[in-house]
Amino acid sequence: MGLLSGKTAIVTGAARGIGKAIALKFASEGANVAFTDLVIDENAQNTEKELAALGVKVKGYASNAANFEDTAKVVAEIHKDFGSIDILVNNAGITRDGLMMRMTEQQWDMVINVNLKSAFNFIHACTPIMMRQKTGSIINMASVVGVSGNAGQSNYSASKAGMIGLAKSVAKELGSRGVRANAIAPGFIITEMTAVLSEEVKAEWAKQIPLRRGGTPEDVANVATFLASDLSSYVTGQVIHCCGGMNM
Ligand code: NAD
Repeated sequence: MGLLSGKTAIVTGAARGIGKAIALKFASEGANVAFTDLVIDENAQNTEKELAALGVKVKGYASNAANFEDTAKVVAEIHKDFGSIDILVNNAGITRDGLMMRMTEQQWDMVINVNLKSAFNFIHACTPIMMRQKTGSIINMASVVGVSGNAGQSNYSASKAGMIGLAKSVAKELGSRGVRANAIAPGFIITEMTAVLSEEVKAEWAKQIPLRRGGTPEDVANVATFLASDLSSYVTGQVIHCCGGMNM
């Protein structure tokens, strides 16, 4: 018996990176996993194969998490295919960095829509199901910069601060209905998202990390598994920092 046996999880943006690590860890703990990404390309198909090899029910769905109608449709499809939705991880996210004075409206809107509105879309579609089941765990992928801010990332930091406020509000609204909501604030995690940063920026980040290393997607997946499972049954409305001590 795994920690998540018998549960169904949705993980958004899970073709690669942190989302993929979460999907794999959930599946290794016995969860059936529905994951979404913009397209089900070779990357996503490989994720699907790796998950299926763990012996659970798995399916990847092409869906733009920033689109309200798309999300309602895909959640209905997942519910039909899997029969329940017990865990929702709002992981899909992007960066479009730029200093405030140079940031375009398009950069702002894209990041807010993909990183924050997407979570509203999925929570809106999943919570009626979770409320009927009287159980559910929602996990919003925030970031340490959602708490501390970051020069050049006003759009991203605002979206991640929003993910924290959203999780806390949903925790307050739905706790009495058996639905928990929490956020994870990762620090510097080594994925394709951070691969684009310059060596100077990476060195600067590393200096600020007491554990003296960047995090792995698996580090974040372990925290997500705790929040998804009944081990955290009395934990809601919280932000767990997974950052090697960078933010205290
Ligand atoms: P990544 O770029 O490697 O993966 C993100 C995934 O989301 C990709 O598969 C991408 O196709 C998908 N995606 C993008 N837009 C989408 C959309 N509109 N609909 C559906 N899927 C979409 O990124 P990552 O490093 O794995 O980050 C995952 C999450 O963790 C993000 O929310 C990110 O902001 C957050 N995070 C990452 C770090 C880090 O250091 N890597 C730190 C803090 C928070």
